[in-house]
Amino acid sequence: MNERSKKKCRCCRKTLPVVQFHRLEGTAAIHPFCRPCLVTAARRRSARRAGQRTAKTRCCAQCGQDLPVQMFHWLRASGSFHSYCRPCHAAYMAERYRRLQAARRK
Ligand SMILES: [Zn+2]
Ligand SMILES: [Zn+2]
Repeated sequence: MNERSKKKCRCCRKTLPVVQFHRLEGTAAIHPFCRPCLVTAARRRSARRAGQRTAKTRCCAQCGQDLPVQMFHWLRASGSFHSYCRPCHAAYMAERYRRLQAARRK
């Protein structure tokens, strides 16, 4: 593939010159999204993350209550809050521990 060849962006479906695409480092492969689409996607991602961080309450998947986000564990790895509130999470972990202990005793 030479520099003048074209490639269709998988995001906006426009056919653009390959120079409009990011080359994946260390490989001959080219990113399926064009540069403008990558920028838009990155911006949308960070906006969503910022929204999650500033949200005041969150609905617990276990007890169904809308609780302040301080009541949830922050999962740094996934960049979001845990779906269970702290009390539900603690109860879940205690229950799990009890089940494991019971299973071990058998
Ligand atoms: Zn595009
Ligand atoms: Zn809960």
